[in-house]
Amino acid sequence: MLSQKMLELGSKKSTIREIFEFGKKRAEIVGKENIYDFSIGNPNVPAPVSVKNAILEILENENPTAIHSYTSAQGDDNVRSTITKSINKRFGTSFKKENLYMTVGAAASISICFKALTNEGDEFITFAPFFPEYKCFVEGAGGKLIIVDANTQNFQINFDEFKKKINDKTKAVIVNSPNNPSGVIYSEETILKLVSILEEKSAEYGHVIYLISDEPYREIAYDNVDVPYLTKYYKNTLVCYSYSKSLSLPGERIGYIIIPSEIEDFKDTYAAICGGGRVLGFVNAPSLFQKVVAKCADETADISIYERNRNLLYDGLIKMGYKCVKPEGAFYLFPQSLEKDAKAFCEKAKRYDLLLVPGDDFGCPGHVRISYCVQTEQIINSLPIFEKLAKEYGINS
Ligand code: PLP
Repeated sequence: MLSQKMLELGSKKSTIREIFEFGKKRAEIVGKENIYDFSIGNPNVPAPVSVKNAILEILENENPTAIHSYTSAQGDDNVRSTITKSINKRFGTSFKKENLYMTVGAAASISICFKALTNEGDEFITFAPFFPEYKCFVEGAGGKLIIVDANTQNFQINFDEFKKKINDKTKAVIVNSPNNPSGVIYSEETILKLVSILEEKSAEYGHVIYLISDEPYREIAYDNVDVPYLTKYYKNTLVCYSYSKSLSLPGERIGYIIIPSEIEDFKDTYAAICGGGRVLGFVNAPSLFQKVVAKCADETADISIYERNRNLLYDGLIKMGYKCVKPEGAFYLFPQSLEKDAKAFCEKAKRYDLLLVPGDDFGCPGHVRISYCVQTEQIINSLPIFEKLAKEYGINS
């Protein structure tokens, strides 16, 4: 008999993917330019030219057998060394290659952390709105995901609710900032408050409560807003990073985990991360792309395009009467739905070929996610549609 859990997970596409597939089919009928697909978070900005140059240089100059060979399970030594130097330079940290484990994107980084930490009965807390895949990653590792309701005022952390949900079974807390889907960046004040609760509760329960920082959008931040580097605030932090968004390489599946030397029982924790990678089959991240990202470690794709899109869309929607917390990073807007049932609202939007994702799957009903990593032209052309929709609800600009 098959695993019922896997059968269930594999049979049902995520809501985002269902909407995305619908958009592709509709485009065949009405033309791509008539579909306003804001469903999926696939970066539309090309990878910087340095990525192409790095690939060509590696292919031309390096030993052809070595390029595609196995590396150490945790990644090539030189690659890990180069990447940690880049992180140290940018964030004032002091990691060495021994603190880094190369992975297959953020999804693998997070899954490995959950696997490395989970014992039977363990709980993992996250804050709504949250990346929906956390649930299956945690459950896949044998843990339980506990969701703290959103603070819809500003999408910082709802601390009252957090204090009620943290308990002796809490193994770790996972945060994602800049956030998918709200676009909000947790302020230093939020981080300090979170860390002080984690410290207090770790002492009270007599065991470490880890902090997992899922940060594929770290570099996509606007208006000079600072994205605090969490290992500097809390030593028991695991950082999960990916080049999917910052370098526009989502299909290449490349990222890393940082395990700081200061973490409790560093040697064992690093070994458990290696164990998690081994069990999940995520050893040896793709060799060529390990080398490519090392050569481009200080680079990003052209983020100014996302900022322009955010400004156009946010300013446009606010003028029409939509209500939305202003996002400071990532490439998502998370306005309030114009009716209580966000799913019904998205169905109405769909009638205009405007494809939005209801907030329900992100643990935040009554909101919709707009993924604005699209051509700026699509945003400009969609504004009259958003306006028509608002008028249908009697909202006047
Ligand atoms: N975490 C968050 C918050 C994301 O938005 C995504 C992808 O959209 C991931 C993790 C997974 O990233 P990757 O493609 O690097 O596995």
